[in-house]
Amino acid sequence: MADGTRTTRAAAESRRTRAAADAATEEKTRTARPELVVADPPPEPDYPRYRVEPGAGLRLADVDPDESEHFRKKKDVLPELERNRDRIAELQSRLYAENRRSVLLVLQAMDTGGKDGTIKHVFEGVNPQGCQVSSFKAPSAEEAAHDFLWRYHQHVPSRGMIGIFNRSHYEDVLVVRVKDLVPEEVWRPRYEVINQFEHALTLSGVTVLKFYLHISKDEQKRRLESRLADPDKRWKFSANDLRERRHWDAYMAAFEEAIGNTSTEHAPWYVVPANNKWYRNLVIARTIADTLEAMDPRYPEPEEGLDAVAVDD
Ligand code: AMP
Ligand code: MG
Repeated sequence: MADGTRTTRAAAESRRTRAAADAATEEKTRTARPELVVADPPPEPDYPRYRVEPGAGLRLADVDPDESEHFRKKKDVLPELERNRDRIAELQSRLYAENRRSVLLVLQAMDTGGKDGTIKHVFEGVNPQGCQVSSFKAPSAEEAAHDFLWRYHQHVPSRGMIGIFNRSHYEDVLVVRVKDLVPEEVWRPRYEVINQFEHALTLSGVTVLKFYLHISKDEQKRRLESRLADPDKRWKFSANDLRERRHWDAYMAAFEEAIGNTSTEHAPWYVVPANNKWYRNLVIARTIADTLEAMDPRYPEPEEGLDAVAVDD
């Protein structure tokens, strides 16, 4: 075979490979902009504006943590929250039955930011069998002896499942950076590693959605004080939260850079105003419901001939 033919063939093959990857990526990009697909698009709540556009960078100071659109009180949002919870429950049951794809939700926030509350309120009514929550603390000795993604990869939801990461691989460019646990030459390349990891997940049927719950420093103070004041909340108080709070500005810089560098066409970040817990729940519930709807999970075809089936006495 002449060298020229071989080169042409190799070039054609590489074009085909690239086209196939592009097509798969394009499908993911559609589900990452669900408002273009859902029949009943926003404005209420107008969550797409909280999505961080890829490559645009992020300034957290530009996002008002008190924002709640025209909603004033918790009771203003309850019917809409209920509607979106019902949508999630119905779509989750289809996703589970379809058993082909999965959803990974990443929750990140400062201490008291509301990660636990979000899980409790948004997933109320969802069949626990189709959901799994993974909470990540400081790595164990065994985890720390592996590459940083190792422990997270094992918890990526399998087909049919919704997986929720309460903290995530992002800690490895957040706390690790702020507390100087590894040098910059180690954490900085991780943005790119994370983008490639998440891209690979999306290509194997995982829809990746990331939420940063944005609270103000004052709001954190109020929440910490209320944990101290209420005997039933004291168990949640950790002296470590006070130590982390002293690094508030460094955390903001770390979040800003991490989110700005890892909001991609296939795995977007949403920066959700979270001083009002009820508005935060509504925005997140709506975003998840619309994303699931854009995925359009279907119940599998039943076996043939079921009409003629009778169940023996
Ligand atoms: P909490 O979620 O409040 O129970 O706290 C968990 C703690 O684990 C937080 O202080 C995190 O910063 C810490 N943590 C989580 N992931 C990592 C990590 N990869 N490296 C170091 N610390 C971590
Ligand atoms: Mg904590």
